[in-house]
Amino acid sequence: MADVQLKLLLRNKDISTVNSSDGTSRSLGKTEKPNRLKEKVNGVTKPLRKSLNDSLEADVRDFLVNEAELHTYDDLTKVNPVTPATVLKCLQARYSAKVFYTHAGCTLVALNPFQPIPHLYSLDVMREYHSAPQPQEFKPHIFIVAEEAYRNVQGQVEPMNQSLVVSGESGAGKTWTSRCLMKYYATVASSSQRCQDTAEKIERRVLDSNPLMEAFGNACTLRNNNSSRFGKYIQLQLNSSQLLVGASVQTYLLEKTRVAFQAPNERNFHIFYQVQDETTCISEDSLPETVEAMMNLGIDEGRQTQIFKILAALLQLGNVDFILASEEAQPCDLHEQSKGFLQNTADLLQVSVEELQSSLSVRTLRAGKQELVKPCSQSECGVRRDCLAKAVYARMSAENTSWCNFIGLLDVYGFECFLLNSLEQLCINYANEKLQQHFVAHYLKAQQEEYVAEGLQWSFIQYQDNQRCLDLIESSPCSIFSLLNEECRLNRAWDAQKFCVRLQKDLSENPKISWDRFSSEPHFIVAHYAGSVSYQIQGMMDKNQDPVPPELIRLLRNSHDSLLHSLFADAEQESEGARGHSKALTVVSKFKNSLESLMKILYSTTPHYTRCIKPNPDCRPLTFRQEEVIAQLEACGIVETINISAAGFPVRIPYGSFLQRYGLIGGERREKKPEAIEQTVLGSAVEMIPSFVPEDLRHMVHCGRTKVFLTHCLLEKLEEQRNRV
Ligand code: ATP
Ligand code: MG
Repeated sequence: MADVQLKLLLRNKDISTVNSSDGTSRSLGKTEKPNRLKEKVNGVTKPLRKSLNDSLEADVRDFLVNEAELHTYDDLTKVNPVTPATVLKCLQARYSAKVFYTHAGCTLVALNPFQPIPHLYSLDVMREYHSAPQPQEFKPHIFIVAEEAYRNVQGQVEPMNQSLVVSGESGAGKTWTSRCLMKYYATVASSSQRCQDTAEKIERRVLDSNPLMEAFGNACTLRNNNSSRFGKYIQLQLNSSQLLVGASVQTYLLEKTRVAFQAPNERNFHIFYQVQDETTCISEDSLPETVEAMMNLGIDEGRQTQIFKILAALLQLGNVDFILASEEAQPCDLHEQSKGFLQNTADLLQVSVEELQSSLSVRTLRAGKQELVKPCSQSECGVRRDCLAKAVYARMSAENTSWCNFIGLLDVYGFECFLLNSLEQLCINYANEKLQQHFVAHYLKAQQEEYVAEGLQWSFIQYQDNQRCLDLIESSPCSIFSLLNEECRLNRAWDAQKFCVRLQKDLSENPKISWDRFSSEPHFIVAHYAGSVSYQIQGMMDKNQDPVPPELIRLLRNSHDSLLHSLFADAEQESEGARGHSKALTVVSKFKNSLESLMKILYSTTPHYTRCIKPNPDCRPLTFRQEEVIAQLEACGIVETINISAAGFPVRIPYGSFLQRYGLIGGERREKKPEAIEQTVLGSAVEMIPSFVPEDLRHMVHCGRTKVFLTHCLLEKLEEQRNRV
């Protein structure tokens, strides 16, 4: 493989953001805590330049709870006050106590232990959560999320499809969590009554899709030695008896540039090392396992041979280098050592070696009916070679293994902010904006609908709406995507500086875009919900067009290898020849379309969110770095989520049950059957309940039509009082 050094990209950590969201406060008249992360200097509030730890200590001193008990807080909405600092402290205390899961209202926060915790995921634990009447009452666990989705999918009235959305930064544990969810379903949704053979086959197929996808789509990076370089949505299909009957996978935006280039100390996709019998970063991921997975997924030996031959061809192709031609105006020559590699590539791809060489080194131009040939420069030849490798690999690994009701698992790349950000990061962050919008809309909608149904008089929650940011990126007729696409359509020489001016002219009314006056590089800054990211414009158009030269498409379509031929049978519209043609779909258009289909699915399902957190950048076991974690809490908007949850009344108890449990505190014995109480006291309950709620806590309770709405804080107080009576 070509060993081109790319500039090392590092995560841009801005610890000062700790201060920025400290102003978040809960509504409902809670006492506002003084903002301890800020100080007044000459009347101007400035962030304290203290160490993060000092600031945290200061904030946590006001914590209403006993610090020694912090690790017992299994829901972050119970932490008071909710600030990044208190949430962080609570998570740290739990991590030290080896408690890795914590609820955050409707979201589950999963801290990566970076070491195997076998007893946490054993079959027995799965069965325990599965058979519990109320798994929610157990300790927070990914199995609660899994089980809730499993029970919901059957629905009381009609089946309701479910989606499990797992997010977090690279190395946080998304893929690990998705695997864990798949194992859970392969266990609980299998049947002993069915023909054992078939049942086992389906479950095996579901589980086997993992090593196969990881072999082709994962690679060793600086941040994770098994990093997924694509997004995926897996649908687990269940029949009316809740048994697993099939699965399908949709993948998104594979980082195909990795086939040709890897950053220093990073690697190509695992499969390339497997076929060369080299060790991969992850020991269990070996060729025999991949082959076994292929067999179980119905990829027969013949097809496997074809796949491995193509992979071998790409490895050979990586060694092909061109040198300047001896005569001017002639196509570049092959480096002496490259001749054998080119021949091997041609043999393995089953194409003619002459055609392969000319398609890599000569461009065909059409002028009317005439065809003109023009030699490519030495660097163009290299670009074409890499383009061939990327196109073949992307097509081959996108060959989805295709196999009622479903549970979908979404394992997507989290928000990214490097020192240099380009089109890939824009697409990834755009996807995260979409998911955040879905999350907020879903959660608030559900919460507010219940308030309306219950006739609650309470002002609706104000939340950060990211629609303007989405408009900036994707809307028509004028957005970053539409302007980029227009440039591609016009097919004129790309001038990054001019494009930057165009963005300033057409989009500067949108408050979500800005420019750094001191930067001389053409760029734009987008204020994402998770933080601002500066994108460099240079190179964006090429990435957006991602053209495959028509000569290469023709070459592959003429291959005698049936797999290769079929992969490129309909590839004409992707070719460079389609540039400026309405059929040519740009990278952002394709990504937007596939994301829109995904969002349609998500909006039609009941979502469950899991936010994975990476506690330290070195993947070290049981090491909690505050700066690292707080940046992620900010990036996934977790504090805002908790505030949304905590600002409302997360505890809802039907009147009957409420009076039965807490009636005693009011001095009256009402431990009758709930239904009886429902009938008799409903009318007076509204006035009665606040009478035994202490004066200073009354804002924490609201009476709906059928339920009492409470905060966690009040619930605890009531429990305490109940125990005293
Ligand atoms: P990327 O975005 O790079 O694909 P990711 O979020 O998918 O990253 P994973 O590959 O799932 O990250 O996790 C990284 C590593 O962390 C795993 O290989 C595993 O060693 C460890 N890990 C994650 N979650 C757990 C867990 N719950 N228990 C033990 N180890 C874990
Ligand atoms: Mg992953």
